[in-house]
Amino acid sequence: MCAHFHVIEKRNRYNADAARGQTQDASLRLGTGVEVAAELDYRLVLDTFADAVIASDGTDHIVYANAACQKLLGWSGPDLVGMPLTTIMPQRMRAAHAAGFRRYIETGRGKIIGAPIRVPALHRDGTEIDIELTLSALRIEDAEHLIVASLRDLRQRVELERQILTQKHLRAQNSVLLALMHSKSLQEGAPKLLQGIGQALDWDAGVFWLVDEQSTTLRALSAWVASEADEAFARASMERVFQPGEGLPGSTWASAKPMWSADVAEDERYGRRAIAAGEGLHGAFLFPVRSGDRVRAVIEFVSRIPREPDQDLLLTTENLGIQIGQFLARIKAEAELRATEQRSILLAEVIPQFVWVTNAAGELEYVNRRWTEYTGLGVEESRRGEWRKAIHPEDLERVRDGWREAVSTGTAYDLQARYRRASDGTYRWYLVQAAPLRDESGSILQWVGTSTDIEDQKRSEDAVRFWADASTVLGASLDYEETLKSVANLAVPHIADWCAIYLESGPGPARQLVVTHADPSKVEWAKQLEQKYPPHPSTPRAADNVIRTGKPEFYPDVPDEFLARTARDAEHLRALQGVGVKSVITVPLKARGRAFGAITLATAESGRRYSAADLAVAQELADRSGHAVDNARLYNEAQEAIRVRDDFLSIASHELKTPLTPLQLHVQSILRGAWGGSPEQISPKLAGKLETIDRQVSRMEKLINGLLDISRITNKSLDLDCEELDLSALVKDVGSQFNEQLARAGCLLVTDAPSPVVGCWDKLRLDQILSNLLANALKFGPGKPIEVRVEMLNGDARLIVRDHGIGIAPEDQARIFERFERAVPTKHYGGFGLGLWITRQIVERLGGSVRVQSSPGAGSTFTVTLPTAAPADDERPPTSAVH
Ligand code: ADP
Repeated sequence: MCAHFHVIEKRNRYNADAARGQTQDASLRLGTGVEVAAELDYRLVLDTFADAVIASDGTDHIVYANAACQKLLGWSGPDLVGMPLTTIMPQRMRAAHAAGFRRYIETGRGKIIGAPIRVPALHRDGTEIDIELTLSALRIEDAEHLIVASLRDLRQRVELERQILTQKHLRAQNSVLLALMHSKSLQEGAPKLLQGIGQALDWDAGVFWLVDEQSTTLRALSAWVASEADEAFARASMERVFQPGEGLPGSTWASAKPMWSADVAEDERYGRRAIAAGEGLHGAFLFPVRSGDRVRAVIEFVSRIPREPDQDLLLTTENLGIQIGQFLARIKAEAELRATEQRSILLAEVIPQFVWVTNAAGELEYVNRRWTEYTGLGVEESRRGEWRKAIHPEDLERVRDGWREAVSTGTAYDLQARYRRASDGTYRWYLVQAAPLRDESGSILQWVGTSTDIEDQKRSEDAVRFWADASTVLGASLDYEETLKSVANLAVPHIADWCAIYLESGPGPARQLVVTHADPSKVEWAKQLEQKYPPHPSTPRAADNVIRTGKPEFYPDVPDEFLARTARDAEHLRALQGVGVKSVITVPLKARGRAFGAITLATAESGRRYSAADLAVAQELADRSGHAVDNARLYNEAQEAIRVRDDFLSIASHELKTPLTPLQLHVQSILRGAWGGSPEQISPKLAGKLETIDRQVSRMEKLINGLLDISRITNKSLDLDCEELDLSALVKDVGSQFNEQLARAGCLLVTDAPSPVVGCWDKLRLDQILSNLLANALKFGPGKPIEVRVEMLNGDARLIVRDHGIGIAPEDQARIFERFERAVPTKHYGGFGLGLWITRQIVERLGGSVRVQSSPGAGSTFTVTLPTAAPADDERPPTSAVH
């Protein structure tokens, strides 16, 4: 030790000499060669070192310290000499140092000799300084141990390293950001992430473990290796699946905390340690990727050198985990949105409606396939504004105005319009609806519209309306030509642009009864054309053919020869062509199987093309029209027959009555003895026969009077001769006239007419009414009492005749008041079925009513109600009712 010290001392002296002003000389002499080196005081050299150099001897005391110690440790070199080496060590390290030093002295072996290590040193002011220590051992002469420690200030380097590390972490974060920004999917992003972080933070391999939510396992989505040599690790990782808590990835997932292993090759927890060991991979670091509270993935990195994570790495990876988690959440949301969009588009493509989307300004951006198929307009064409071509010219303005209004006010759009079908050029009705799609702030992003085919619905609505109108028209008139003209007016525009109706007229061409069009000037033009080119047998029209064959003619598309066949010359043909007929249907008008006319329906301006369904509608219309015409004809014929019958009845009853009056007079005069002899001269037998003749003549007169009343009533020539009279008195009077008949029928007449009921009536007609009712009561209730009652009720007079006879079934009670209607077989009961009809006619003429209450077997009650005042005129409405 001493010798060694001397050496240094000697050199120090040399150094001191140099310091005393010989530096110049020494430096001058530097260039002169080896002798200079031999003469050099090495302490002088050591003092120029930036690193602190300290030498200690075998007793662990400092024997030398260079000038740099002052700056690094706060001690000057000479201050330190003689102090224990531990002076410059933090307290906690002194024991370990002492042990190491002792071992070295004893064995000559030192663990840390030769290799620089990073340790803290103790500054004179008590602070610790990060230094890099390099120890060298010298053996001077035999026993001297000299340990030279070189201490390098690491403070700057540590700072630099920290900065580098920070840079690396920033780089890692940046590469993550970039990877995430430019990736649309996790599959695309994961490899970039691994590579970015791995390269930035000097890892050698990495695995992206994704949580499979369905199977609750962790699966490798992607693996990255810095060099191809580690491919086996990547492959092995890709095949691995972890349960929660299993291995390092599973534990990171379960704990949601970063995990590391200093050496996976030795780590029991590490399933791939054999492969890792084989490839020289040791350090591992894993961190969770979270969105919210959930771990969505785990990222694992491994490196060749064992590593302890520092605070920076933990912080950085926590941030990365959050960033990547957000990315995962974003792409998940995007995927869901895409799926929704995809679904919407798919839906839009398959539904039978047109679907269209416009921008906020209302400009078309998207149309679905249905639209392009139907309109024949491509997506691009439609977007260029040519969608307008698909809309019926008559609807276009309405559609445009409505749309403008909707877009400017932001209100839903809803209207009906016709779209042209490209395949056949026909127009169909659509319900067009659109609604704005708004963002959270309420401003419109897009408009989404649909157009639904409502042609069939509209047609059936139209059809319901049409047939309702048709029923009205067909039932409105019994003049069949008028009816047919109404039918033609109904057809346009419901089912045709043009309609013409033809009726057969003799053996030649049919007569055009009517031609209609929505535009009257066109009708005029058509009539003039018909006049100019009257039908000619050489050019039979469709109507002529149809009347002849009784079969319809149907041209969905009018062929050229159709017009050519009808046209008489080139000018006529041009005129017909000018109409622009598209579709034509001609159907026969039939009555009881025979065609007597034809209806021609044609489309032109509407662009409508007739289908088989339209032919059926046309045929139905023609059939109904044919029936209506037939009914009208039959009705007219029946009316005529009735008129002839009534005329006959009128003449016949007059003629029949003529001989009756003198016959009755003669019989009565014989009975009165007015023939010259006295009544006693007539034998009782003859008198009886004469009385029978007289009764039968009276009866015949009544019957004939009834017949006469028919013609009076139907001719409206039933005159009333009203005077003030008492109904009660009249009832008693008429009742007494019936005494004989009552007696013969075995009926008791009970009259209940206690007080006068006075009104202004025709006496003979009231007599007729009561006689009719009494006669029926006798006829249908012989042997049973008959009650007659007269009363005032609510200001009206009431005459009630009640019998206890056979009664009347409810279903017959209304019709027995009609002409010639009877509810009993002729075989059992005589009569014309006129009595009640005449009764009703008279009662109604007097402004009253007659009704019956009855049930079979329980008798009948006829009630006549009469106002007491004379009728104001003959037009008082009938008020009869049946109960
Ligand atoms: P008729 O001359 O046939 O009696 P009416 O017009 O007087 O003609 O009567 C029409 C029908 O009403 C009769 O045929 C009979 O069926 C029915 N009828 C009328 N009065 C009575 C009654 N009192 N009881 C039962 N049936 C009656």
